[in-house]
Order: sequence, then C-alpha cells, then structure tokens
Amino acid sequence: MTLNIQTVPEIENIPESKRVPILRACEGKEDLANLAAGNPDMEMPDFITERLKEHIKTGLMPYTHYYGLPKLRTALSQNLEDEWRIKANPETELLITIGVSEALYLIMRTILHPGDEILLPSPHYGSYYQNCIACGAKPVLVPLDEQNNFDPDFDLTEKAITPKTKALLFCNPNNPLGTVWSKEILEKLAEFALRHDLIILMDEIYREFTFYDEPFSIGSIPEMRDRTFTLGGFSKSYMMMGLRTGFVTGPAAVMEAVKKLHYCITFCCPISGQIGALAALECPTEEMARIKADFKNRIEVLYQAVISISGVTCAQPKGAFYIFPNFSAFGKSAMDLAIDMIEKANVIALPGTEFGELGESHLRLSVCARPDRIKLGISRLQEYATKYLKN
Ligand code: PLP
Repeated sequence: MTLNIQTVPEIENIPESKRVPILRACEGKEDLANLAAGNPDMEMPDFITERLKEHIKTGLMPYTHYYGLPKLRTALSQNLEDEWRIKANPETELLITIGVSEALYLIMRTILHPGDEILLPSPHYGSYYQNCIACGAKPVLVPLDEQNNFDPDFDLTEKAITPKTKALLFCNPNNPLGTVWSKEILEKLAEFALRHDLIILMDEIYREFTFYDEPFSIGSIPEMRDRTFTLGGFSKSYMMMGLRTGFVTGPAAVMEAVKKLHYCITFCCPISGQIGALAALECPTEEMARIKADFKNRIEVLYQAVISISGVTCAQPKGAFYIFPNFSAFGKSAMDLAIDMIEKANVIALPGTEFGELGESHLRLSVCARPDRIKLGISRLQEYATKYLKN
C-alpha cells in the first residue's frame, strides 16, 4: 500500500517562483547574456580569501556557538554601532544566521500569528511573499508608484491597515527596484509605525551599495529600537553569497525566541562563513570603495542604455544591483517579454511579476555578470528593441 503523505497547506500554498519558467526557457541554449542574476560574477576581496585559506589549513571545522562566534558578534555589534548607529547587545540582541534568508524566516515565523497581516510595499523581493504564506500570515501589497520613484505613499499605506496588521517589511536599498528610501522617508515611516503600533522588518542586505546618500537605518532611531528588526548580511557587500552568512538584530525578548527556532533549524551558521564575515569586518575600506564605485558605474551605463529605448521608462537607480524598467507601452506580459528575449535575443532578464503582481509589464535587469557580458547583453537588448518592440 502506498502511504499518502499530506503536506501542510501553508507549505503547499507557497507560490512557485517565476524564475522556474525562465530557467526552463534557458535550457539547451548557449551563449546567453545574463542580465537577470543577483549573484555577482566577481571574486571576494583577496583579504577575505587569504583569511579563509589560513583557516582551512588548520583543518578545524567545528560547530560554533549556536548564536555565532562570540568574537564575530562583538565585532559586528561594534560595526553596527559605528556605521549603522544601531545599538545591538552581542549577547542578547544579535544572531548570526545562514544569510538574510534564514533571518527572514526566523523573524517572520516567530512574530506572525496565523491570519496576521504584513504590509509589503510592492513590487517586493519575491521571497517576502513566500515567507508570509509559509508562516500562515497574509501579505498585503501596498503599491509603490514608479512616477514617484517608488517612494511610499503614506495615505495609501494607511488605507491598507486593518486591526490584523502586524508589521511592514521592506528592503532598502531595494531589490528589485534599485531605489533607496531616504533618511527623511524612513523618519516618516518611523512616525507611521509608532502611530499604528507596527513592527518594522528592514532588510538592509544592499546597504553598502547606497550610491548617492549616506545609508540610514530606521533601527537607529531610538524610539524604534523595540519594534525594529534589522537584517543584514555579507553575501552582496563582500561577494560572499556562497558562504551564506547574515545576521539579525532586534529587541532582546523576541530575539530570545528567535534563537530557539534558529537552534532547531540550523544549530549554527557554518564556521567558514563566520570566519569570512569576521575578515569582511576588517577588510580594507579602499577595496570596498572600489567595488561600490564599479557597481555604481555599471548601473548608470545600463540605466542610460535602457531609457534610450523609445517607449521604455525607468525610475532612476540609487542603490543595489538592479533597475526595474517599464515595458507596458508594448502590450506584452512581463513573462512573455522575458521569454521572447531569451528566445530571440539570447538575453536573460527576470519578469517583474517575480516581484509580485504589481511588477507586471516590468523587467528586472541586473549588473552582476562580467562587464563584457553586460555589454553584450545591453547591445542585444537594444537590437531586440529595434526589431521587436513597437508601440
Ligand atoms: N534579501 C534580498 C532583498 C535579496 O536580494 C537577497 C538575495 O538576493 C536576500 C535577501 C538573500 O540574502 P542571503 O544571501 O543573505 O540569504
């Protein structure tokens, strides 16, 4: 007799990523120019590589303290205080996780009760929605307007609030939009959160890639300390994606519960990632400044090329690795357009709908490929537009 295993509805209901049909369309194709990746095709700074080599030579790969190497938590707490202006007690308010991905799930699973609503200013990073569903909560999309550079509309956000609204989750600088909410906007968001008694989850994984302003963390506002969870990581800022190391800081009482879940799921973050993270915190700043300047330049080149295509509009990028151009003038769905571009032009882009239904008619383009491949992708995109995009 075959055993019929019933999976739980929360997990069954997680929507499939729109990346799946894109990967399928790429199968068997060669020489694709990848303007879709969020995974920079770039080496880690030598400083970190050397530290890791030294560690590997010791042959020691133990479990670490469950909540992260004490010396990493201490160094990170100092860095958060110096750079982010966030106070995070390394014993009680800071947890080292397997990337922001783990941190997101831990926090959402810990604070969201079934039926709770969570505001997602949208288009939003795809896994935010999936995590809400996995936690039995209801994601409520609050539209961000491209005409307004994807800054929040607080009247609209207020209308989305119900007695069940628990939290607001956002990523700043933003994936997929490439925009950055300013200090003034974040201060207004703080007032809004205090007025409506909301928890804020702020994913700052792209913080180092804030191109025009000083980065600002909502968690640095003293009144927000007991209602903000700040998530950060080393994947993007130090090209350490595969080392899977991130962190979350928030109020001690909730972090206590978060740590229990972390212990159940992962025990601890792998030591290799934590050694890399410790090196990253000591990495010479010139190296990081060079990487940041390089990305700023790549994004500007891509942005200029894309807005020069007649009929395409795009919010001006200010951070992260992405732009989110609007192709609605051409009457194709985002998915059809992305697949057509793979088939006819050998260029991969992500359909905007990977970032929620409000991303319809947009593509997310990135600058994570090698510079020669980005250049090739841009020229193929321009050629495709000339041949096939008529409005
Ligand atoms: N948050 C955002 C907005 C991302 O873009 C990504 C990765 O692309 C992640 C989180 C995942 O980060 P990590 O590698 O730290 O798990």
